[in-house]
Amino acid sequence: MTDAPAARLAAFLEQLEDARRARGVTLIVVTKRHPAALVRELAEAGHRDFGESRHPESRDKAEELADLGLTWHFVGQLQRNKARQVARYADVLHSIDSTELVEVLEGGDERPRRDALVQVNLTDDPGRGGVAPADLDALAERVAASPALRLRGVMAVAPLGEKPGRAFERLARHAERVRAIDPDAQWISAGMSADWREALEHGATHLRIGTAITGNRPADG
Ligand SMILES: *Cc1c(COP(=O)(O)O)cnc(C)c1O
Repeated sequence: MTDAPAARLAAFLEQLEDARRARGVTLIVVTKRHPAALVRELAEAGHRDFGESRHPESRDKAEELADLGLTWHFVGQLQRNKARQVARYADVLHSIDSTELVEVLEGGDERPRRDALVQVNLTDDPGRGGVAPADLDALAERVAASPALRLRGVMAVAPLGEKPGRAFERLARHAERVRAIDPDAQWISAGMSADWREALEHGATHLRIGTAITGNRPADG
C-alpha cells in the first residue's frame, strides 16, 4: 500500500466502482486542514469534487485553485455571519439547518440558487449540527421555496456511540420525507472514512471521505 493520496484515491474509487455504476455515487474528498497543493495533486489525478468545512480556509483554497474549475462542497457548520461569504465560492452547501440561515442566504445577490442540503441532527443533543427531525419538513419546504437555494436532499453525520447503520437507516427515512416535498431532492450526503460502507447500504449518494484518501490531517493550527 502506497502512501500517495492519488494512489489511495484510485484504490478507493475502485472499491466504489459498482455503487457508482448502479446509482451514480459521488465521492467528495474532504481536504480540510490540508494545503491547496494536495487538492491540486488529486485534481491532476482527475478528481473534481472536494469538501471543506472551515471558512476562510476553504475560501483561500477555492481562490488559489480557481483555475481548475473544481466543485466545492461546504460540509462544515455554516455560521450565519459567514454564510453569504461561503456561498460566493461553495457550489454545494451541505449544512442548511435553520430557516434563519436560509434568510441570511437570501439577503445576498452572490450567485443564484446554490445547491443545498438540509442537515439532519441524528443525535438527541440539540447542540449538534443539523435540524431536529421534527422540524425537517418545515425547513425542507422553506429551502424548496427559496429563490437563493435549490433543495437537493439531506446530509448527516453518524452520531458517536451508535451503530452507524442504525443512524443511516433513520436518515434514509428522513430523506424520503424530503423527497415527498420535492421529488428532485434525491441526494443523501452521508458516510465518512469510518462508516461509508454502512452509508452506501442505506442509500448514500454522496460520500464525504477525508483521511482514508488524504492521510491524517495536519494538527489543528
Ligand atoms: C472532516 C469531515 C469529513 C471527513 O472525515 P474523515 O473521517 O476524515 O473521512 C466528513 N464530513 C464532515 C462534515 C467532516 O467535517
